[in-house]
Amino acid sequence: MARYIFITGGVVSSLGKGLASAALGALLQARGFSVRLRKLDPYLNVDPGTMSPFEHGEVFVTDDGAETDLDLGHYERFTGVAARKTDSVSSGRIYSNVLEKERRGDYLGKTIQVIPHVTNEIKDFIEIGDDEVDFMLCEIGGTVGDIEGLPFFEAIRQFSQDKPRGQCIFMHLTLLPWIKASGELKTKPTQHSVKELRSIGIAPDILVCRSEGPIPVKEREKLALFCNVRPDSVIAAQDLGTIYDAPLAYHAEGLDQAVLDAFQISPAPKPDLAKWEDVSDRIHNAEGEVKVAIVGKYTQLEDAYKSIAEALTHGGMANRVKVKVEWVDAELFDNEDPAPHLEGFNAILVPGGFGERGTEGKIKAAEFARTRKVPYLGICLGMQMAVIEAARNMAGLKTAGSEEFDHEAGKKRFEPVVYHLKEWVQGNHKVERKVGDDKGGTMRLGAYDATLAEGSRVAEAYGTTTIDERHRHRYEVDIKYREQLEKAGLSFSGMSPDGRLPEIVEWSDHPWFIGVQFHPELKSKPFDPHPLFQDFVRAAKDMSRLV
Ligand code: GLN
Repeated sequence: MARYIFITGGVVSSLGKGLASAALGALLQARGFSVRLRKLDPYLNVDPGTMSPFEHGEVFVTDDGAETDLDLGHYERFTGVAARKTDSVSSGRIYSNVLEKERRGDYLGKTIQVIPHVTNEIKDFIEIGDDEVDFMLCEIGGTVGDIEGLPFFEAIRQFSQDKPRGQCIFMHLTLLPWIKASGELKTKPTQHSVKELRSIGIAPDILVCRSEGPIPVKEREKLALFCNVRPDSVIAAQDLGTIYDAPLAYHAEGLDQAVLDAFQISPAPKPDLAKWEDVSDRIHNAEGEVKVAIVGKYTQLEDAYKSIAEALTHGGMANRVKVKVEWVDAELFDNEDPAPHLEGFNAILVPGGFGERGTEGKIKAAEFARTRKVPYLGICLGMQMAVIEAARNMAGLKTAGSEEFDHEAGKKRFEPVVYHLKEWVQGNHKVERKVGDDKGGTMRLGAYDATLAEGSRVAEAYGTTTIDERHRHRYEVDIKYREQLEKAGLSFSGMSPDGRLPEIVEWSDHPWFIGVQFHPELKSKPFDPHPLFQDFVRAAKDMSRLV
């Protein structure tokens, strides 16, 4: 039976609950325990798949094809534990399950209510895989007091009562604002937040307090006294230069010790932090810098490309260089020369995306990278744009484009080099889709195998010819243009095992130009950088030496 750590937040959102949970997971692992992390989100979307990256940040896809919150990306990057469908749930999913059961007649004769039907559904979810790990860390999205969050808070309160004493603890993250005028760190918002939590029956065991600087002993004692926690369970979480210092910083503050004490685990196994010391060393002691342009659409919100930014950092760590990322809005050069926007970068990355806006700019970025021999990594839409560029400029298909844009515009303008995927094989069954199907959860999602061509650059980068990577797309490069494109020099160096779906393309006569239909960034870890990002940054580093 797992021990449960429930992580809640108060005062304001965006305090880094996900990061704190992930870092705690890593510290428990460092002490020899197995962990799994879970996110319970109060919003009403069934999953974040249909939310705008502008609003919600990136959608993180799991191996088993769930579209989840970006916090699951933090969990994976810090613990290396592959998240599953059952590690992310929203109110929308919970209510939809309850209503489905109601229609089926599972509760026949009963009046369906938040307590117990919705809370039971949440509790059942929390408990999935309970016998697999030592610790289950469950983060509740939002902040205490949010209307949508109430059923989740009630469910975790009940859950801790259902379990034997000492099986569950509560960790609450808050903010200590610094008031410049009086030179004081304020504890009152935290006191209020804990009061709110206690009013719904949850007494926190550990307080994690975000603050700009250290928390003086006086404030720590005050927090302990007024919030009814032990002084050594008031953990300071100061702003950090890099998120990868979080495990070491939380350890220095005694977070993992406080957690083990709360569970009365004694003697506490000694932690082995060598992995995180190495990660920290690589970040802080980089020798040199490379500049990478991310040419995309969602450039105002960095969270929209969270995993890509992190994977680039990991690639930099592997090469002992700092990767300086600049976000370039593709729309700026939809109708003009991209050179003034792209010169001076050591590499160009075109990420995934949806819809036509900015795609002409992305196609121009691919052309710029190809002709100027700048390392290029195209991810999903970024690969599709590279193929369209090749078709238009090198294979004589002047009107090449993607069906996605014709569908959006409601008229046929392009020769569909990229077409709407109607069927594919998943495991040993066929999946079918139609244009106009529901938008939610209907893409080609999750991990699929690919076979790489011997001697290709990707096979060299991966060091193998069989890989599996995570997908999230509805459109696909049409294999019918393969011969024509390969004649022009674009080789299809990665294919689905049945040879029907192009997974990777590369220009063989280019120093480093690769397009991938999948999302390699989702599997990169600071202690295990993804081979493509590692090699891409190496190519950028080589390039920076040339200029
Ligand atoms: N919009 C494209 C598709 O659906 C690309 C998706 C993506 O980049 N994730 O195929």
